[in-house]
Amino acid sequence: MKLSHRITHLTPSGSDGWEVFYRARALKVAGQAVVELTIGEHDIRTHASILAAMNDSAMDGHTGYASVPGTPSLRQAVATRIQTRTGVATGPENILITPGGQAALFAAHNAVCDEGDVALYVDPYYATYPGTIRGVGAIPKAIPAYPENGFQPRVKDLDEHAKGATSLLINTPNNPTGAVYSSATLDGIATVCKTHDLWLISDEVYDTQLWDGEHISPRALPNMAERTLVVGSMSKSHAMTGSRVGWVCGPKDVIEHLTNLATHTTYGVPGYIQDAAHFALGEGAYLEDEVSAPFARRRQITETLLATQNTVKGSPTQGAMYAMLDIRATNLSGLDFANELLDTHGIATMPGESFGTAAAGHIRVAMTIADDKYESALKTLLDFAQTKAA
Ligand code: PMP
Repeated sequence: MKLSHRITHLTPSGSDGWEVFYRARALKVAGQAVVELTIGEHDIRTHASILAAMNDSAMDGHTGYASVPGTPSLRQAVATRIQTRTGVATGPENILITPGGQAALFAAHNAVCDEGDVALYVDPYYATYPGTIRGVGAIPKAIPAYPENGFQPRVKDLDEHAKGATSLLINTPNNPTGAVYSSATLDGIATVCKTHDLWLISDEVYDTQLWDGEHISPRALPNMAERTLVVGSMSKSHAMTGSRVGWVCGPKDVIEHLTNLATHTTYGVPGYIQDAAHFALGEGAYLEDEVSAPFARRRQITETLLATQNTVKGSPTQGAMYAMLDIRATNLSGLDFANELLDTHGIATMPGESFGTAAAGHIRVAMTIADDKYESALKTLLDFAQTKAA
């Protein structure tokens, strides 16, 4: 039977750099000790108080269909959070609760892209971006952000690609690079969007993991609220990856259309999960600080260790839970480096090539294991790089 072109072409066939990750998983299953510095999963679990709120809600009977755009209380809590953090007037009518940030990315592109429209995104990119764009029938077009520019996209490159495009997807703090877009970068992005009449989809799921600089939401820039859809999530901020709760924040009419889309796709998010998210947001910053603190410590470990050698260069780890390491001095590709490191030392990392072309010759390290183990693995990695560069 014929399957749709859309579903069979969601991801291209052939090597995509993820084989190191799958190989590491297979080695683990086969009983080999592997240190995994691969995906963005916290090494701590959802806080017990959030789970208690989830349990209380379920036991109170909130297990039926929940309101499709989100419970009024969670929509309000998210709106308040966004307004407090950005200063932009935001109400529950601007919020759609989704099953995680990924569903929000899909919904946002669905809202603005027609079949065959060009949707821009920045390379290096989070793995699902091009597939999400293809999933709504649009054509993904990558704009490189170079290591020499701290992985900040250049206005000139954005401008060149923007003609005739429909949307631009950005992510700050950035996965995989750890870059936090500067005020100048974001002003440039806003100008390009206004000049070329683009929708801006702003993935801000790491907005609580910031080590350097400030997080600026582009929705807060002049005349941007009407053309910006912000993607948010409880996954990273509250270690709730498995709960699948996130949101789209945007103009009221977009949210109304997206509510219609949700009615025909997800039919909303479980009420007890939403109540747990509402509880978590109501607790203020301490839960977020507890989740982000280990990454702040490991980011410091990374900086300290990098300073002891000259082979591997770090790009500034300004936010999120990853360090992007430049291993070009070893003359190996990111893919070869990651494969050899896995084979010789049982340490799994992500080759830069798995995030597009701009991070070739890099590897991404997820700072997601205990401090002492992280430090020891990073030392081994740096020693390995030194032997390769010698
Ligand atoms: N955006 C980025 C940049 C991510 O790294 C992730 C998850 N790794 C997501 C969105 C999606 O997160 P979730 O669906 O768990 O909210």
